Amino acid sequence: MKKILITGALGQIGSELTTLFRKNYGVDNVICSNRSNKNEEIAGAGIFELLDVTDGARMTEIVKKYKVDTIIHLAAILSGVGEKNPVAAWDVNMNGLYNVLEVARQEGCKIFTPSSIAVFGPDTPALNTPQVTIQRPTTIYGVTKVAGEILCDYYYNRFGVDTRGVRYPGIISNSILPGGGTTDYAVHIYYEAIKTGKFVCPIDKGTLMDMMYMPDALDAVTQLMEADGSKLKNRNAFNITAMSCDPEILAEEIKKHIPEFEMKYDVNPVLQKIANSWPDNMDDSDARKEWGWNPKYDLASMTVDMLEVLKKKLK
Ligand code: NAD
Repeated sequence: MKKILITGALGQIGSELTTLFRKNYGVDNVICSNRSNKNEEIAGAGIFELLDVTDGARMTEIVKKYKVDTIIHLAAILSGVGEKNPVAAWDVNMNGLYNVLEVARQEGCKIFTPSSIAVFGPDTPALNTPQVTIQRPTTIYGVTKVAGEILCDYYYNRFGVDTRGVRYPGIISNSILPGGGTTDYAVHIYYEAIKTGKFVCPIDKGTLMDMMYMPDALDAVTQLMEADGSKLKNRNAFNITAMSCDPEILAEEIKKHIPEFEMKYDVNPVLQKIANSWPDNMDDSDARKEWGWNPKYDLASMTVDMLEVLKKKLK
């Protein structure tokens, strides 16, 4: 990884990854790109290029201009937003990835593309969900992520493009708000705990989903991209998780620090249906074996850090 292009770099994951990569790989070696410049602080702190990933010609121009050797492809339409606009979700998620794979094939880049727990559906075993199992998702987001996993495998097997990826669970973070996914409540609950001491949860009690704190999500990119490729059997779409929780478990953990915190429910039926179709907890043993995946944060340590950071940020 010498010259790294990040797409969708001003989103929840990309904005923190851009900052980390600028620090680790050099400001001049990271090309931050996004469809719009919605965060001047991140964009202005290094190289920034406007890039709509559905524009393959523009992508090629940027890859050639900077002699990019690695693409971290984060631009996507997430699950909640995708259900409101399935056509846009298909266009951005599929054509965007296709353009990335094509430019990678032509210019010899290696790529990282995150998949998601959304690739699973109601027929998938919900407990200890295996790495290889039934993938019949019921959202357009999930459909594009399954197709994306297979397309990445195809480009590796057919053209030798070094494609790698993980199935992220819900990512909890405190820098940029999430972009319209089903696990977003797990971020908002912390913000509201600090701001108002109350939270109205759109996901019902008892709905277990995998989650992860942002520092671990970022480490996963570096670790997988720097891993010895010959040791990777799955290559794309490794299950990775750090914890499994429902709204009650999260609220109880927050109450250890803010005893007066109160939570009520106003369940969003669209999000709830999506959440019900996703795993309770994934088996990530292949990622642990093949490239040493080992998250640092559990629910307790993440909660301490989230509350500490948000107290300072929101005061
Ligand atoms: P996000 O919505 O916060 O950010 C996505 C970014 O892509 C935004 O800045 C948006 O402006 C940009 N974008 C949208 N359409 C674009 C286009 N056509 N061209 C260029 N940029 C465009 O998403 P995120 O949470 O940062 O997710 C990054 C990746 O990780 C996505 O592939 C997502 O599916 C995956 N993922 C995220 C989570 C999570 O909990 N955040 C979980 C599983 C997988």
